[in-house]
Amino acid sequence: MTQIQVGSFQWMKSMNKSTILNVIRLHGPISRAEIAKITRLTAPTVTNIVGELLESGLVVESNLGESTGGRKPIMLRINSSAFYIIGVYAGAKKINAVIATLDGHVVYYTETKVPAGVDVEGYVGLLKKSIHSAIEGTKNPVQSFVGIGIGMHGLVDPEKGISIFAPNLNLANIPVKTELEKEFMLPVEIENDVRAIALGESWFGQGQGIANFICVNVGTGVGAGIILDHHLYHGASYTAGEIGHTTIDIHGPKCSCGNYGCLETLTSGPAIVKRIQKAIRIGKQTVVEEYVKGDLDAITGEMVANAAAQGDTVAIEVLADTGRYLGIGIANLINTFNPSRIILSGGVSRAGDFVLQPLKETVEHRSLAVPAKSVTIVKSELGPHAIAVGAVTLVLHKLFTPQGVTEV
Ligand SMILES: [Zn+2]
Repeated sequence: MTQIQVGSFQWMKSMNKSTILNVIRLHGPISRAEIAKITRLTAPTVTNIVGELLESGLVVESNLGESTGGRKPIMLRINSSAFYIIGVYAGAKKINAVIATLDGHVVYYTETKVPAGVDVEGYVGLLKKSIHSAIEGTKNPVQSFVGIGIGMHGLVDPEKGISIFAPNLNLANIPVKTELEKEFMLPVEIENDVRAIALGESWFGQGQGIANFICVNVGTGVGAGIILDHHLYHGASYTAGEIGHTTIDIHGPKCSCGNYGCLETLTSGPAIVKRIQKAIRIGKQTVVEEYVKGDLDAITGEMVANAAAQGDTVAIEVLADTGRYLGIGIANLINTFNPSRIILSGGVSRAGDFVLQPLKETVEHRSLAVPAKSVTIVKSELGPHAIAVGAVTLVLHKLFTPQGVTEV
């Protein structure tokens, strides 16, 4: 097997090559004749490029297809499990590295804790360490890896490959791409974590085949990844989707960004914890207080969800408020972008109908009738590695569609 000329995606820069590869991905097993028909490329061009793809090992010949008279055509498919991509969730408390096949199947993962107060050099060191341990853990030859994708919290410049500002680490200008490409000699793609999830949803999740959808992630922070006409929308300086810092209540709590009443201060995991702590302090009776034996600092968002599941009325009310606030934020998105789907991910989405039901009612009341009618609100099904799988998709996107064309 010839190694793909990694180090850059130069090898894939041919439009025809990536188009054919993408057709095989979407329609395989497929014959050369069918590829020519779909791409409108000539038969000799298809034969030449398929030859190169076969030589690279990215594509293999599979079973024989149905004959339409004459001999049966040879079918082609992506050699999904012969190559691997490293996907990394670069968070403030932990770093997760997964190894996935070309069809997004996770075969290995590692978790590295991030100590408080880490500096830029230290954080880059942790990224390298977690990627090394993932690569070593799979015992696959180095040449079977085609690239590294990073989903990083905070503001990211995907062109320059830097983390502009990571608020939860309080670090700025982390040269992620340069450092990791130097270390691993593999192409590195970096994107904001929620934007990476959105891309992951469009390839492997609830966004498949949908032209306009928005992924809303509610965890420690709140953000969105916006897909418009099949393309990830970045905005002028890569911050499009920062709905966590849109104002919902001008008299609301102070936010880390300096403003008051941002969506994040009302709906994030820490916001939920703060609301139940306040309820306990003013004398409301909830089972959550028993969970932590009175140590209010030990309360987590998950405990509130568990209490709600037990029928605890205070916890149910806290989550209902969360759903209503989130509903206001999402209704604003629906009125602005007219998406056909909203995909909820992150810890808060795991609270289920306690959040989702009031959220949907609020959306119905507060968004305009026409866009409200054409949108569905669903939960992400990408699982616990959603961000890392999204990061894997960054590399796939570059490999299969270097010109940014996702539709054939
Ligand atoms: Zn804010």
